[in-house]
Amino acid sequence: MAKKVLIIDDSVTQLSSLKIFFRRAGYEVEVAQNGVDGFVKVYKTAPDLIICDVLMPHLGGYQLCRLLKSNPETKQIPIIMLTVLDKKLDKFWASQSGANRFIQKDSDFQNIIQISDETIREFPVFQRYKDLLKTYDFDEEGIIFQINKILDDALMKSTITNEFRNLTDYTADDKITAEKIFKILSTIIEYDAACIYFHSPDNARKKRLIFDTQNCKLKEDVFLDIWRQILPDCVDDFEIETTKGKNSDNIIENTDEFQSRKEFDFYYENNLIGKVCFYSVQNIEWNKLKFMPTAKSELDLYLRLKFLYTKTCYLSITDELTKLYTRRHLESVLGQEFERAKRYGTIISVAMADIDNFKAVNDTYGHQAGDYVLREVSHIFTDTLRKTDFVYRYGGEEICILMPETCINNVIMPLERIRKNIENRDFVYNDSKINVTISIGATTYSKDMRLPSDLIEKSDMALYKAKKSGKNKVVVEDE
Ligand code: GH3
Ligand code: MG
Ligand code: MG
Repeated sequence: MAKKVLIIDDSVTQLSSLKIFFRRAGYEVEVAQNGVDGFVKVYKTAPDLIICDVLMPHLGGYQLCRLLKSNPETKQIPIIMLTVLDKKLDKFWASQSGANRFIQKDSDFQNIIQISDETIREFPVFQRYKDLLKTYDFDEEGIIFQINKILDDALMKSTITNEFRNLTDYTADDKITAEKIFKILSTIIEYDAACIYFHSPDNARKKRLIFDTQNCKLKEDVFLDIWRQILPDCVDDFEIETTKGKNSDNIIENTDEFQSRKEFDFYYENNLIGKVCFYSVQNIEWNKLKFMPTAKSELDLYLRLKFLYTKTCYLSITDELTKLYTRRHLESVLGQEFERAKRYGTIISVAMADIDNFKAVNDTYGHQAGDYVLREVSHIFTDTLRKTDFVYRYGGEEICILMPETCINNVIMPLERIRKNIENRDFVYNDSKINVTISIGATTYSKDMRLPSDLIEKSDMALYKAKKSGKNKVVVEDE
């Protein structure tokens, strides 16, 4: 069957010569002399290909092209733009407006036909699609309405996209980021509640689920239920945060009150990087919501960006061998915690630990075995302590612990537990059983301390005492 081409050009001479050549090449030809007429003819004739001039009165070529390409009913039909000069900018705008190809107007016709044949082959329009197109019947008012609707949608879409791009300013702060995301989402999706989860590669951090409630209030149990639904593998050590939603008297006591929910999981290189979930007390067909695809693809892009940012930050403060935080990171955090203690009277305790006779482990079993023990000892620290305590690799086999909101009486028990866990553990490397012990010195902030390093020095003194008095013990240096 002959392929149908629609040529849209305001130049009568250009139009008639193109018409002759396409007919000779076996095409069925339709023509239009301006953009608006062209738009109507696309519906009336359902062509296999559109050839479109750039400069035309009323509706120019780029605009027409963008209009047709952002409209689901017409976007499958390939468009070739006829550009006047071989200008880079012309080509740029032609491709920005969605044209599939562009040809210079003064190309020989053989060339134009060849490119048209190729384009039709590469972007075939199915009969069903064409049949559907012909069922629409527009009068003049209808055309204007249709054009406005498509342009409005395109504008809204690019506005949403822009809003998402602006999020990059807040990436470092999860809560603010979540607030900004909900602000965008709530304008385009009618949900009653929503939550978001940002995955971090840092396992020492608590997992957080951040909620937004638009038209309801959630009971505590509902938060927990949702948590279990969304992150079933992580049932303890998590945090629930809520953002400032609208005030509402509609209290949700049970998750069953939500008639519908829609969950999106986002992945990067096969790893989960985030989740977003919407809830409504009504039965909503989420997939049919107009801007859902835009929201989803923008979220996908943004969450990747955020994940890479978080990962880069994590790597810059994490020691490669032990996966503990680095000493450099300790120095910045310790300064802040010290200031807080000084200014607001918060409590902070610090402990310094050093593996006993570690040189002998290296000498006896080799450096690789030493590395293995060091890694395992580090895991014991992070596994035994709470997620609110921070563990750093201070030096070779020295580990420092920062325990905010913990007074000296409460540090002894967890440190003893660590000491015992290490003492009782048989580390096995290449069939050799290795046993080590650890000495720990601890101290707590007191008003006479002037510098953050005073905390380190004092816990170092306690560690020295532990070593001096026979190793494998916890010593506390108190006021
Ligand atoms: P003490 O009980 O007094 O602490 O004795 P020690 O042998 O542990 O003391 P010292 O501080 O003199 O030795 C620490 C050893 O730890 C020396 C060094 O070779 C080793 N070490 C430091 N960093 C690493 C590391 O990353 N991997 C390995 N395998 N060994 C390390
Ligand atoms: Mg040592
Ligand atoms: Mg040492």
